[in-house]
Amino acid sequence: MSNDSSDLNKDLIAFLKGSVSKYHAVSQIVNILSNKGFSLLREDQEWNLKRGGKYFVVRNNSSVIGFINGERSLQDTGVKIIGAHTDSPSLTLKPNPITYSSGYSQLGVEVYGGALLKPWFDRDLSVAGRIVFKNSKGDIGEKLIDFERPICVIPSLAIHLNRDANGNSPINPQTDILPILSQNIEGQKPLDEMYFNSEISDKFLKKGEILLDHDLNLYDVQPPSMVGFNEEFISSQRLDNLVSCFIGTMAILGAGSNNTSMIVFNDHEEVGSVSTTGADGPFLDDVIRRVCYSSNDCNVEVVKAKSFVLSCDNAHAVHPNFVHKHDPQHKPQLNGGIVIKYNTKQRYTTDGYSAALFKDLCARINVPIQSFVSRNDMPCGSTIGPLTAGRVGIRGIDIGICQLAMHSCREIIGSKDPLLLRNALSAFLGEEL
Ligand code: ZN
Repeated sequence: MSNDSSDLNKDLIAFLKGSVSKYHAVSQIVNILSNKGFSLLREDQEWNLKRGGKYFVVRNNSSVIGFINGERSLQDTGVKIIGAHTDSPSLTLKPNPITYSSGYSQLGVEVYGGALLKPWFDRDLSVAGRIVFKNSKGDIGEKLIDFERPICVIPSLAIHLNRDANGNSPINPQTDILPILSQNIEGQKPLDEMYFNSEISDKFLKKGEILLDHDLNLYDVQPPSMVGFNEEFISSQRLDNLVSCFIGTMAILGAGSNNTSMIVFNDHEEVGSVSTTGADGPFLDDVIRRVCYSSNDCNVEVVKAKSFVLSCDNAHAVHPNFVHKHDPQHKPQLNGGIVIKYNTKQRYTTDGYSAALFKDLCARINVPIQSFVSRNDMPCGSTIGPLTAGRVGIRGIDIGICQLAMHSCREIIGSKDPLLLRNALSAFLGEEL
């Protein structure tokens, strides 16, 4: 296994560049797994699992579970699970997106998750995601699409027209963030719904295929990059939480086949996780049960009691301009190592015991750790760890690398942290380092 940050960061940046929607991210993960010998299991078919076999299951093309069915008895080993989420805050297209104002055709968008809205202004934006269509035989299919070029923009209002723009100027998510798609020429038919849909059909569908619906989002066309005087940082869209998905995938590729290892990347974390694909849904439990039932004499409760989840999601690094937003004793630094996240009210699932196990693991492989706990006078975020623990009944810990600008459409992590996370996750899955 390479211990070179630059190789890993190059692959990470390519993955982030291609992850213009959660569907694209899952598709890339599926390709990586398939190319490394993992086989697709369909949930609507019986599974005949081989000991030592490598498999993956996809739900709704927005969440994925990959696993190695260990040679040893599952009841003896339990499952080692790495969890993360595939979705990120974004602006998604409404079902009938085209609106008109003052000679412009605009896109009606819905805010997905707790997005920071300001960073979306004055960026070159494109549209990507999935479309659902009917083919000439009457079958329903879906396809990933990406316009690739900047087809719209959300211009700021000039400061001369809003003198309070740098003060307390709230953004109305219904009226202030509609991107401009095109300027309509007087006397000519404006760019309307029919034209927009026919553009999608012409560009992405074959003859005879009829567009029925879509799950599309905006994204910033600026590619991810290394930034900082000494390239200390990586800036990109969707670092929360695709960095954990990518590194988790790299970790399972190197895992041995002795024990049962699993990655679970859920959708809908940013909107509460209650769905068939979310961490507060049945996906992980369903897969663990089916893996268990595929071997003789497997008691799923025993398996769960011996299992452990490393829930990986990004943490807040201390911001040099806003140091007071952190508890004085808990100020994670970019490139300072993996963050263990604590919250006694169980917004994070970490406790003293699970943290001790993880600290011991990291100490053995020389991976530095940091800790995060919110200030008492500020609310704490959450992630998939407590939901997975509550839903499936498997103990675990919440960890992650730290970042700045969380939920912006341009986020920042330290360039040394991905390798540290990879080493920790690989060690967790039992790879020999
Ligand atoms: Zn997250």
